[in-house]
Amino acid sequence: MSQNINHVLPILCECHDCGCFSHVPNLMPGTKAVCPRCDGVLRREHRNQLDMALACNIAALLFYVLMVTTPFLEVRMYRMNHISTLQTGPYTLADDGFIFLASVVFLFSILMPLLKISIMLVVLLGLRLSSPPRWLYVPFRWMKRISPWAMIEVYLLGLFVAYTRLTALAQVDIGIAVYALAGLMIMMAAADMALDPIKVWEELEHRNIIHKHPIHKNTLDTGHRMGCHVCHRLNYAQDGASCVRCGSILHRRKLDSISRTWALTITAMMLYIPANIYPVMTITNLGQITYYTILGGISDLLKAGLWPLALLVFIASIIVPLIKLISLMLMLLTTHYGISQHLIDRTRLYRIIEIIGRWSMIDIFMLSILVALLQFGQLTYVRPGVGAIAFALVVVITMFASQGFDPRLMWDAAKKRKQQNVTCNNIALHNTVLSANEGGKI
Ligand SMILES: [Zn+2]
Ligand SMILES: [Zn+2]
Repeated sequence: MSQNINHVLPILCECHDCGCFSHVPNLMPGTKAVCPRCDGVLRREHRNQLDMALACNIAALLFYVLMVTTPFLEVRMYRMNHISTLQTGPYTLADDGFIFLASVVFLFSILMPLLKISIMLVVLLGLRLSSPPRWLYVPFRWMKRISPWAMIEVYLLGLFVAYTRLTALAQVDIGIAVYALAGLMIMMAAADMALDPIKVWEELEHRNIIHKHPIHKNTLDTGHRMGCHVCHRLNYAQDGASCVRCGSILHRRKLDSISRTWALTITAMMLYIPANIYPVMTITNLGQITYYTILGGISDLLKAGLWPLALLVFIASIIVPLIKLISLMLMLLTTHYGISQHLIDRTRLYRIIEIIGRWSMIDIFMLSILVALLQFGQLTYVRPGVGAIAFALVVVITMFASQGFDPRLMWDAAKKRKQQNVTCNNIALHNTVLSANEGGKI
């Protein structure tokens, strides 16, 4: 396999955070190229990154199989014991009629991580073949969409919170699946750190496994210069054409970005209120029913003296969604008014909210673990509340909102406003000169 594709000449790249075009030189292993305008990472280079990523993904698959086939947690209470697997949470939620919550937990903790590992293995193993299959670029196109929804590390933190809560009520034993989950998290993080996806795209192109869409003969003259949002290859094409490397539909900017982000942000803001007012779960213990809102759960942790955990849940469940909503509003308004101040800071803020949004799922994962384990007939049981549905919707919708927002529009709007101001000043100057001339004639 030809692993080292050393492009001797610098490659022209578009920064997907600010729209700046810059030349990326041939990088040394362990280095990265950043955008000269907004500091966004354009490329990373690692030694043997394809082999490293393959090894990490094979290990991740082994941990995954172990995780879904072995016992997760065992709870002992009233001389009874209850063993759960990772799948028990979503199944119990579905049994209780909370299909949406069951689907969210199943997708983000079980299905998406498996899809991510499988696609990486298919592509990386396929590239090791002497004649790789022609369709190999197709599954890799989905990686960018799937990655943010595989939330193993968030699930692990949710488990940590659930375990602390469970130990206050019952005796809890940790199963092999918990260690497998930790191993899976480490391997998936290592695979992400080891590999720059652009390297895979370059290798696919080098092996001629690409979407061979014919370029119109006039495209170079009439088309726009556009970086593909999926594989980052620079194309000279019209809006709506296909990327020559991955076949994705090209757009100079994300379609309907502003209106879509406004709609999703306002919906999430409205849902944020019931998410905090209504209980996310009810715990019935020996006939005593306790309703927990998100804040109620945090104050319960504080009363138990677990303030680091209370702080963690407070940040993840209250602060992070608020920061996301306020930041999205700020970015939308500054784009609307073409404000040019703090463009770099706003672009950095966009990158931060894209990363932190998923961490708010901690509470939902914790709920699914408690619901699965605390089922001791009429003595002790946990039921989800409607607040949990509203909260999960807030997290999912704000993630869609930040993914749909195109930060380059902030830079475009500021540039347009500046040009308008220059034109207005020129017209004003022209009128002043004209009136001065007319005054002279009189
Ligand atoms: Zn940039
Ligand atoms: Zn592409």
